[in-house]
Amino acid sequence: MARRTRITIDYSICGDGNEVDPRACGACMRACGPAVFTLHQTFGAEEKDPCDPQQWRITPLWASLCTRCNKCVKICPKEAITVE
Ligand code: SF4
Ligand code: SF4
Repeated sequence: MARRTRITIDYSICGDGNEVDPRACGACMRACGPAVFTLHQTFGAEEKDPCDPQQWRITPLWASLCTRCNKCVKICPKEAITVE
């Protein structure tokens, strides 16, 4: 049986209102051919204006589509992604 791919994003670096706003970068999303990642608002974030959410993160929602090409790992300017 094929082993499952685990993709991890360090949210202490990218997303959740931390160092990188994934809406401003998004390099991993553009690099990923099979479109494994999705960009979404952080659930439960306290927002001054819910119509203008400030806290976002990228989640590898469709990890089963990952070809382990490592493009996302190489392109991430903050080394925030690991694929195992
Ligand atoms: S390793 Fe390749 S296929 Fe997998 S998430 Fe990263 S860019 Fe996408
Ligand atoms: S490439 Fe890295 S820093 Fe840029 S959005 Fe993706 S995880 Fe965040």
